[in-house]
Amino acid sequence: MKGPAERIANTASPEQTRALGEAVARALPDGALVALFGDLGAGKTVFVQGMARAAGVPPEIPVVSPTYTLIHEYPGQRTLIHVDLYRLAGGADLEEIGLYELMDGDALVAVEWAERLDPADLGAHLSVRLKMTEDPVREIALGAVGGGAGEWMDRIASALKELAWL
Ligand code: ADP
Ligand code: MG
Repeated sequence: MKGPAERIANTASPEQTRALGEAVARALPDGALVALFGDLGAGKTVFVQGMARAAGVPPEIPVVSPTYTLIHEYPGQRTLIHVDLYRLAGGADLEEIGLYELMDGDALVAVEWAERLDPADLGAHLSVRLKMTEDPVREIALGAVGGGAGEWMDRIASALKELAWL
């Protein structure tokens, strides 16, 4: 597991967090898993909205937390699968939910409330940890874990250069 371990980016508005999610998703290969951590209201869904822009999800399709469905698939140039585990009961059978199968596919997968998963089950992924500091600022830590994830960080670092405020 090599590569720059972690990159911290602060955003000062929802649009900046969206732009960050968009840049990150552009840098990621098909099949990449993005695990989002952070409290309610931290900005996980907003980040995924940016990922949806990068995937080419039509703007008229709303990207909201799929709280009642657990998993939502969006059409686009790239398929984006959006998972929200907030309501996942302890010990829920992820096999049954079909999460592992999805993680093995070509789609970009974003998982909110990734803390509900056993880290060992995640495999290679990009961890995105969002913290509210002084509202509206969010401190967002990006870190690559496992597999070819170190390479992702180099690509992400280049992509972030296009974000003027960073
Ligand atoms: P989560 O999915 O983590 O529960 P959401 O993305 O649904 O959180 O909501 C984040 C809320 O915080 C939104 O209402 C958004 O407008 C607000 N907000 C304020 N500042 C930011 C910021 N810098 N980044 C993201 N969201 C922000
Ligand atoms: Mg959410």
